[in-house]
Parts: sequence; structure tokens; C-alpha cells
Amino acid sequence: PRSGFCSSNSTFYSKRTPFPLPSNRSLDITTFLSSYPHHGKTAFVEATSGRQISFPELWRAVDSVSTCLSDLGIRKGNVLLIIAPNSIFFPVVCLSVMHLGAIITTSNPLNTSREIGLQMADSKPVLVFTISQVVPKLAGSSLPVVLLDDEPVTTEATSQVKIVTTIKEMMKKEPTDPIRVRDRVHQDDAASLLYSSGTTGASKGVISSHRNLMALVQSFSSMSTPEETHICTVPLFHIYGFGAFAIGKLVTGSKVVILSKFDMTEMLSAIDKYRATCVPLVPPILLALVKDADEIRKKYDLSSLQRIVCGGAPLSKDLIHRFLQKFPTVDIAQGYALTETTGFGAVMLTPEECRKYDSVGLLSPSLEAKIVDPATGNALKVNQRGELWLRGPSIMKGYLNNAEATAATVDSEGWLKTGDLCYIDDDGYLYVVDRLKELIKYKGFQVPPAELEALLLSHPHISDAAVIPIPDDEVGQYPMAYVVRKSGSNISGTQVMDFISKQVAAYKRIRKVAFLSSIPKNPSGKILRRELIKLAISRI
Ligand code: AMP
Repeated sequence: PRSGFCSSNSTFYSKRTPFPLPSNRSLDITTFLSSYPHHGKTAFVEATSGRQISFPELWRAVDSVSTCLSDLGIRKGNVLLIIAPNSIFFPVVCLSVMHLGAIITTSNPLNTSREIGLQMADSKPVLVFTISQVVPKLAGSSLPVVLLDDEPVTTEATSQVKIVTTIKEMMKKEPTDPIRVRDRVHQDDAASLLYSSGTTGASKGVISSHRNLMALVQSFSSMSTPEETHICTVPLFHIYGFGAFAIGKLVTGSKVVILSKFDMTEMLSAIDKYRATCVPLVPPILLALVKDADEIRKKYDLSSLQRIVCGGAPLSKDLIHRFLQKFPTVDIAQGYALTETTGFGAVMLTPEECRKYDSVGLLSPSLEAKIVDPATGNALKVNQRGELWLRGPSIMKGYLNNAEATAATVDSEGWLKTGDLCYIDDDGYLYVVDRLKELIKYKGFQVPPAELEALLLSHPHISDAAVIPIPDDEVGQYPMAYVVRKSGSNISGTQVMDFISKQVAAYKRIRKVAFLSSIPKNPSGKILRRELIKLAISRI
């Protein structure tokens, strides 16, 4: 059955046309994508530098970089780390690494050296791609580094890090026959390792296979046309950007204009200059657009814009209405996805679907869903609220080095527990009501409370701590800490916040602190987060 309705075993099926996945099991995602050559078309343009790469140039660059990596000894199964803002080199690196059967792991360039160190210790990369500005954060690491930019590296950092070459040099290399340099890669081999905290605990490496990525790519073929121009405003190191732009859009042949990072003025200028038709956003940016709409429309010609894709965090109906009042010719296509589902979940495609304002869209093709009562574990029916479970060709292989978390997240029948409270209506549309899991999302970025709690507990004046989300219009949610001081300590909220901010990327900073005499917990020691959230909100 492909109706979107419950069947007798309470499974919901996607209403979208299922797509075929390639039958040749010895196929990597890069070879698969390069079979869509899009001759003569531009693949990527950098908004600020104007640097661009056509599809034929992209595939040649990938062959050159794969050849260089192979010469450096990179083999199937090796992990390579990219710590960089968006650029045209980002997709070249990812596609080249995966072409060899090696695994690409990505990190936010704003991460601190402590955070990068943790990811390195877990994923054990053998080589790092990064920009000059990030190099000092790698001090002490013996890994070979490939630079993605031409900016000077501080002399002190140069002596502490082994810079082997630049991406531009690699791209000049005469490619060897790729078949000769590569080990045989199978669809089920690991391809990418993006980090996510999942339903609980600290950040974990999400292993997605080539086949998981092919499933994602196939779904894009029905989502956009070669005539479209997209502005990539979202980070390529997160599944949102990685799935949609480093990989997904290559199948459709549409043009992608890359912003190095989100900047409102640059985004608006790029829409105007490149006559962009589609822009992906997260809700806080949509809010900023609405607030300044009148000024913006005076300054920029946004008449080419047809669609805003919005995902990563909940978007309110009220904000959608306000946006449509200001920009009546633009559709808002919502999307819902997880790193663990390799960018799959639900999505809106047609203007008609975009009118279901509360919903995040219809289930992506070939996905099955269950809505499960968190208290009883029973599967629920249409319009009933429970935890969303998903199954299909894009569900991750598992978490790296963490069989326990994998088993707690994906059951033996392949159902992934999303940790989101959802329901599905009579027409098969998915609605996200609340988040059951601990995860906090600040401007769409993941903030795992467990990581901040562990840091707080490492402070000599803190005996216990809990970190919870505070809802906020501008940023979605921000982290607040409840802290129990050690006896005799009079540590202040500011001191607590400073202690954390030195150790984490800016988006993870604790922005509010309150003190308690004890943290409420259940008998097994689990923090009663809901109680704390209620307490915090009652005091706002
Ligand atoms: P990430 O793995 O960083 O993409 O985070 C996935 C989580 O973001 C989901 O489990 C949801 O909690 C949240 N999320 C993503 N998209 C949406 C959306 N459209 N509406 C509400 N929450 C969302």
C-alpha cells in the first residue's frame, strides 16, 4: 500500500513515487553522480569571489584530487576530515574522498580545538582539509593537512602542523585511470560521517553509506529542475547543506551559488545578482527577513525568487503567514530531516503542498513511518501523537564506535527512533509537535546538553548541573543551565558562562544560568528536563 494511511500494522507509507536505486552493488556515490554529466552547465559559483566550476571541470577535479589522495596512500575505509566554511572546494573534497571508498567527516570551522580534538579522537582521520585560519587549532596534531585557501598561515602554526599541499595544486594533477587507483567500493560501504547527538548524550559519528546517499540523491531528481539557481546559505558540513548541495543538487544540474557562511546582505545581493529561484533557510533567518522586509525590497530585486525551503527547526504558522504577506509570490516549502536519516524525512514539493502550513510535508519517497506511544510502545493511528519512527533506504548504518547508542536508536527491524513528537494526518502529511529528545537547536545548529553538562561538572565549584532549551523567537532555542554550587562556593552565573564559552563554539554558549539546591531527577538518576523547562519558563 502506498497511501499515506495506516495499514493494519499501523505503518504509514510514503505517497511519493518510489524511486529505483542502482542495481550494480559495486558503485560509489561519486561515480553514480558523475553519470549525470550536465555538459556545459555551471555546477557551483562562489557568491563573493565569483569563482566557478562547471560540471565537466568538477568531475575532472574530482579525478585529479582522488589521484593525489591515492598517491598520498589514502585507501578505502580511511577517514578524512574537512573543517571548513563553504566553498567550491568543499564538494570537490567530499566527492573525491568518497570516490576512493574513504569516508568524509565534517566539522564546523568555528569549533574550538577541544571540540575538533574530540572528533579526531573518535573518528581517527588520516588527513585534514582546512583553511589557514583554522590551522592553529590543529597545533600538536601530526596529521597531514591540505589547505583549501591561499591565506597566510601564522609562522608559529606552520611549524606545528604538517601542511602537505593545497587543493589547487591537487586539482592540477593529471588524473590516472580512476579504476586503477581505487579499491572496489560497494554501495553499502561507509561514505560519510557527520556528527549528531541523536536522542541523548554527546555528539556521535553518523555513518551513512553510499546507498544511503544514493537514496537521498534520487529523491532530488524530482525536486528541482536544471533551470533553477539555488543560493547555498546553509553549512556544507551539516546534513542540510551536505545532502542538498555537496551531493543532492548534482543530479538535477541546477546552479548552486555558494555563500561561505550565512550573511543576510550577501544572501540578498546574491539572489539579486544571480537571479536565484530557490533559497534554503532556517526559521530564525526567515524571521529576520520578515522583520526587515520593507527595507529589503527597496534595496534588492528579489523578483526571481520562487521558493524558500525551510527546515532544521520548527517554523510557526504565524511566521509563515507574516512572510507570505510580505512576499506573496514566494512559496515556503518546509522540510524535516535528521542527520541519522541522511537528510530524509518529509518535504513539500508543490505549491499545493506548501499551503499545509502546520505540516512539514509528505514523507520522502520509499520511507515508512510509525507513530509510537512513548509510554506504552504501541503504534498509533492517523492524527494521534507519538514518537516518529522511520524506516527506509536512507537510514544510517549506525553510530561510529557506539553499538549501545546504535541499538537504542535503530531497532532490529530497521526502525529509527527520531525522538520527535509527531502525528500524520488523513492525507499523509507529517506534523512535528515537540521534541522528546534532549537536543537543543540554536539557529538550526545542534547543541547537545550532555556535552555542556559534562563540562559544567568539570568545574571545581559545581556539584551538579542540567542544561535545558529556552524557546526564543530570534534563535529558536538557546541553552540555559541550572547549576548546583559546591558547598562554600559563590560562583556567579557570569563566571559559569565564561567557563563554558572558552571551551565551545559560539553557538553552544550557555546564555542563562540559575542556581538550585539540587537537580530534579527520577529514581534512576535521569534529569527531569520537562520540570526544569516548566520552571524556567514560569520565571521568564
Ligand atoms: P539534525 O540532525 O541536526 O538535522 O537535527 C534533526 C532534528 O532537527 C530533528 O530530529 C528535529 O528535532 C529537528 N528538525 C529538523 N527539521 C525540522 C522541522 N522542519 N520542524 C521541526 N523540527 C525539525
